[in-house]
Amino acid sequence: MLNAECPECGGTITFQSSPLLQELVKCAGCGKDLQVTSLDPVELAAAEQEAEWGQ
Ligand SMILES: [Zn+2]
Repeated sequence: MLNAECPECGGTITFQSSPLLQELVKCAGCGKDLQVTSLDPVELAAAEQEAEWGQ
């Protein structure tokens, strides 16, 4: 089991199975949608619902 920290509220996100790069998860603490941006270590960033992909 893997854990990562929510960048929004600092809460702990627990992955039941190994996450995938770019996978979207929801923080149970603040309800934000987060995206996996790195796997080793696992890092999360707030998922942008619209625009600014491509930068
Ligand atoms: Zn959170």
